[in-house]
Amino acid sequence: MALNKSMHPRNRYKDKPPDFAYLASKYPEFQQHVHTSLTGRIGLNFRDPEAVRALTCTLLKEDFGLTIEIPLERLIPTVPLRLNYIHWVEDLVGRQTPCRGIDIGTGASCIYPLLGATMNGWYFLATEVDNICYNYAKKNVEQNNLVKVPQKTLLMDALKEESGIVYDFCMCNPPFFANQMEAKGVNSRNARRPPPSSVNTGGLEFVKRIIHDSLQLKKSLRWYSCMLGKKCSLTPLKEELRKQGVPKVTHTEFCQGRTMRWALAWSYYEDVTAPSPPSKKRKMEKVRKPITFCVPSVIVKELTANITSIDSTASIHVIASWLEKSLSDLRVLHKRVPCGKTEVSLFLTAIENCWIHIRQKRRDRGRQLRELPRAPIDECSEEASTEKLNGQHFLFKCLLTIKEEGNDFIVEMHWVEGQNRDLMNQLCTYLKNKLSRLCAKPSR
Ligand code: SAH
Repeated sequence: MALNKSMHPRNRYKDKPPDFAYLASKYPEFQQHVHTSLTGRIGLNFRDPEAVRALTCTLLKEDFGLTIEIPLERLIPTVPLRLNYIHWVEDLVGRQTPCRGIDIGTGASCIYPLLGATMNGWYFLATEVDNICYNYAKKNVEQNNLVKVPQKTLLMDALKEESGIVYDFCMCNPPFFANQMEAKGVNSRNARRPPPSSVNTGGLEFVKRIIHDSLQLKKSLRWYSCMLGKKCSLTPLKEELRKQGVPKVTHTEFCQGRTMRWALAWSYYEDVTAPSPPSKKRKMEKVRKPITFCVPSVIVKELTANITSIDSTASIHVIASWLEKSLSDLRVLHKRVPCGKTEVSLFLTAIENCWIHIRQKRRDRGRQLRELPRAPIDECSEEASTEKLNGQHFLFKCLLTIKEEGNDFIVEMHWVEGQNRDLMNQLCTYLKNKLSRLCAKPSR
């Protein structure tokens, strides 16, 4: 499992991904879902809901002593990502005990109350509207000897009968998608599935309702918090909270492999300490090392075929022009930025992912040539979902620098900001491959 470095520092899976081989040897149910590659690597197909479910249940058993059952047709939580949120709530409430929380939309797994109670001894009130989820959640709570049972109510109604109690927090993983199939972009044929409640809004509308409730409940809860599926939801929600005069607002981000989530928290208490949002500077430092590729002198010769006398500065400009042309073809915005005489730097802003489509087209062409059947385009491929990740106006920004190194030249790509560094890596690979193909062509 590709676990991202920017997981919560206390997340037990940070730098220590689950050991599939060990888990498979211990849990026969899990073993059925792992496969061994030709190189002997043990892996799991994360696109197969049954495999994801097996991993979740196995991790909960092995690492938390929890036994749960979840239906395939409802959202299957991933443990490392859920832990990130639990740890952030710990940061919000200051890890005091006893602590009372509310989980809005607990799902079939009832994962937050189960983890919060097991790890921290927290008490939970859990809510759920969907009957299937409700019944499973109830069973999951019972079989783990926990006391609170889920209630079928909204935040306001949930608290109606409990006037006087101050809860320490509420947490919510809003319905981004109605179920696992929708989350995967697959149309479920299961007639019992609930109607899509807020498909693809990343939970924005749901969170607005919680803000609305919080405006009435105010200090009945010390912290209100919600997870968000899209980064662009943060700004309008923060703006709304600011307009309403909410004194404390903070946010964070959760990463697990390629999945990014954001979370927002607010409080009507002036005296609570809000953990600071992840700082851009710190993040940039972490990823400061640029990715690079070499432009060997033979390729430079190819690019400068028509120019007779050429020095290294001129070569750098020739490479820069070639890159500028390629970037324009890919609709990546670029602008030269002033830098030392022996270098050229371009500031890139990628708005859309054209390099993937071009790669896909080339692959398809190759397939047609080889008369291979064409696989249906997987709407939910990692590549496609990276693009759909959020409605921000750019995918990423980076600084590209061309330098001389010995007889050759080096192109460095420095990450500035954006959705996912993998996108910059893809662009880098695309440019590198395109450049190396120049040499493969018969020379002019
Ligand atoms: N907390 C779980 C499930 C999140 S999915 C997890 O993190 O895995 C969101 C859940 O919210 C769904 O189970 C959905 O049925 C439930 N839900 C939708 N509207 C709700 C409402 N108004 N009140 C309570 N739960 C709701």
